[in-house]
Amino acid sequence: MKNIIQNIKGTKDISADDTFIWQFVEKYINDFFTKYGYSEVRTPTFENTELFIRSIGGDTDIVSKEMYSWVDQGNNKLTLRPEFTASIVRHYIQNQIHKTNPAYKIYYSGSSFRRERPQKGRFREFRQFGVEAFGSKFPEQDAEIISMAYNFYKNLDITDIKLELNTIGSKESRKEYTIGLKKYLEKFKKDLSETSRKRLDSNPLRILDTKIDFEKEIIKDAPKIIDYLNKEDKNHFSCTLDFLDNIKIPYTVNNYLVRGLDYYSQTVFEIQSNLLGSQNALCGGGRYDYLVEELGGPSIPAIGFAAGIERLILALSINDVIFKKYPDIYMISIGDNAVKYSFEIADTLRKNKKLYIINDNMRRTMKAQMKDANRVMAKHVIIIGEEEIVSKQLTMKNMETGDQEKISIENIIEYFK
Ligand code: AMP
Repeated sequence: MKNIIQNIKGTKDISADDTFIWQFVEKYINDFFTKYGYSEVRTPTFENTELFIRSIGGDTDIVSKEMYSWVDQGNNKLTLRPEFTASIVRHYIQNQIHKTNPAYKIYYSGSSFRRERPQKGRFREFRQFGVEAFGSKFPEQDAEIISMAYNFYKNLDITDIKLELNTIGSKESRKEYTIGLKKYLEKFKKDLSETSRKRLDSNPLRILDTKIDFEKEIIKDAPKIIDYLNKEDKNHFSCTLDFLDNIKIPYTVNNYLVRGLDYYSQTVFEIQSNLLGSQNALCGGGRYDYLVEELGGPSIPAIGFAAGIERLILALSINDVIFKKYPDIYMISIGDNAVKYSFEIADTLRKNKKLYIINDNMRRTMKAQMKDANRVMAKHVIIIGEEEIVSKQLTMKNMETGDQEKISIENIIEYFK
């Protein structure tokens, strides 16, 4: 016996029975973002490793332990993208898009790769979609992005979604806050986990992101960033909330939401669903006003979000939305002549109509073909045997009602109008 080669842990095939929902979601993504004037951008699956280190930050989990990186035969340090924003910003800078398009609004979708511990809703290759808007520093741009994310899920009737927002302010406000937070956390240094103790020096804000219960207790009384914001930052946040209130987007302000990546500034947000279990984040995003400049481009503000398709599909199937498309016709043919004939009829019908038709192609018994038509839940079967060829009358069975009738070949196209 030969060894059977398995797929890589944390990756998954999308089998023939599941692709319907994927195709539905991909079409929905295209239609939805186009409605807001966002166009699709596709970037390469791998990039120079340095791009991700510089944008996501060396201290993050993604860069420090989750990237799929390698050195190729030409000694180039390469990495499979762990997320899209870095690549999109690289694309924006490299093509000097700010010169031709002051308000660049795009969306994307495709695979991302992170070497995380696989579990329900968490994979090592997963599909993300998201949007990015470059050029506007105004709160209406924040509100557009946040409301897009919220409406995206709401329009799919995904109930049980929760939108949380926060602001982490500009660099200036954050500097003050970081000092205040560090001072507070120093008092609990001996109680903190090893990771948080390290972060106390490198990036104390990240400690607010903790999933550890006893650290959450400590954080409950920590200073809040909102009390450190300058007037401009406060105004930006309250105007963003005003825009959202105005179009009745429900949200909760969570003063301790910071998001895992280093590049965020000002507004950050996340959409969660309790339908998903422990990996409950459907989507997350925020402003990144400094990133374009930090990667060598001009000083251009930007905001976006990223979301996972596997988690979206998980939420959709939990809600029992039905996406599968069922065959309109299953052709059953008995005998060599009938096979040829039914092949021809199926071809004619497909040319004339947008019908979804299955030919057996296995020369099975009538009973076996009927069984298969039931398995695929065909809406009609057309039965062709010697008798039908001679009389030019086909037998048509409506599988929903069970009604059976004879129908002439000429009338068959008419029947499906
Ligand atoms: P992040 O860039 O970590 O905020 O991720 C954005 C979104 O991508 C999350 O809200 C999830 O929906 C999805 N996501 C992130 N990591 C994974 C993963 N390992 N497996 C599946 N989905 C993921």
